[in-house]
Amino acid sequence: MKPVWRIPLADIDLGPEEEAAVLEVLRRRWLSMGEVTAAFEADFSALTGARHALAVTNCTAALHLAGLALDWRQGDEVIVPSLTFVATANAVRYTGATPVFADVTGENDFSLSAADVAERITPHTRAIIVVHYAGHAANMPAIMALAERHGLDVVEDVAHAPGASLDGQALGTWGRIGCFSFFANKNMTTGEGGMLMTDDDGLAERLRLLRSHGMTSLTWDRHKGHAWSYDVVAPGYNYRLDEIRAAIGRVQLAKLENANSRRRTLDALYREFLPAAAPSIGIPYSTTRGIPSCHLRPVLLPKGTDRTQFMAAMKAQGIQTSIHYPPVHGFSYYRQVGGPSLPVTEEIGAREVTLPLYPAMTPADVESVVAAVAGSLTEVQHQFNGRQTERQLPQVK
Ligand SMILES: *Cc1c(COP(=O)(O)O)cnc(C)c1O
Repeated sequence: MKPVWRIPLADIDLGPEEEAAVLEVLRRRWLSMGEVTAAFEADFSALTGARHALAVTNCTAALHLAGLALDWRQGDEVIVPSLTFVATANAVRYTGATPVFADVTGENDFSLSAADVAERITPHTRAIIVVHYAGHAANMPAIMALAERHGLDVVEDVAHAPGASLDGQALGTWGRIGCFSFFANKNMTTGEGGMLMTDDDGLAERLRLLRSHGMTSLTWDRHKGHAWSYDVVAPGYNYRLDEIRAAIGRVQLAKLENANSRRRTLDALYREFLPAAAPSIGIPYSTTRGIPSCHLRPVLLPKGTDRTQFMAAMKAQGIQTSIHYPPVHGFSYYRQVGGPSLPVTEEIGAREVTLPLYPAMTPADVESVVAAVAGSLTEVQHQFNGRQTERQLPQVK
């Protein structure tokens, strides 16, 4: 495939090791959830220190199962950020519960504000879903303390943050359940895939049942002669991962620590070069908590900058950018659900642009992106000033 972009937003690191792992599974001729998936789960437990890791089809399914295992129902409220991928809120909807949007902290920290979450708690609130935006830890000590005071469960959407930690504790193990994503543009990938983790034996048992039709034994157990019959104890789902993806996941997980460390180095270069080249740009996460996974490099355009034109100017230089995120409460479906305004989320949602960040980038690539940011900004501001001047010219008849 001919590359469309000189520097894409993200890129996957797939090589001969992943190819060999997939071939090995194909040659063993057992494709559905079995030994390789169990080994992938064990690897993930070892990485995070969680007692239980359960592989699932994707992070959206993980969030859905988390809500079911915690017994969210119609009439319950679950507090979520609006500055997230829509799956965080959709998964709450699947259970019948209502997502209640809370604002994020500020222009340096795009994760939930504990103070704003506190404002949204009602007698119906059951839980909080925290998103560790861009792979930087949310303020977990404050959120856990608030949740404890009000008897709420905390679920972590760790889609951006595999391998990240805070105070020496893996993100995804602070709350009752952590939900990871292995979608193709995340820090590690299986194509589609996800992982649940919990330290709670009872929750793990419930999650395990719900992942596989509510059945008390697996095809794999029956194949191995461990079981010949089963009961169904809940109307469960088929949210299992398969052996091919698990095999890719094991290789990707082995690369994760180096890949994350490379991302941190590149992110530090952005933070070093941007202030001099484009002093009017806002650089969130110039200070961070714990050890981040640097999934994204967001910036905030100066107020009043035409973002569409800025992104087009970057594109003209072969550099892909994106927006993380159009706030969920602004989408048609969620506008009907309604809710209070979220000033910080709206401000960030209007000015945020995400720059390329992936382990195979070189320091020279980062310099190119930074130079393009500075150039694009000047170009867009000149166009803007030009238009202003034209408008002020007296009309000549
Ligand atoms: C990617 C992502 C998801 C969804 O993950 P899938 O594995 O694609 O279902 C959920 N939340 C956030 C914050 C994400 O970035």
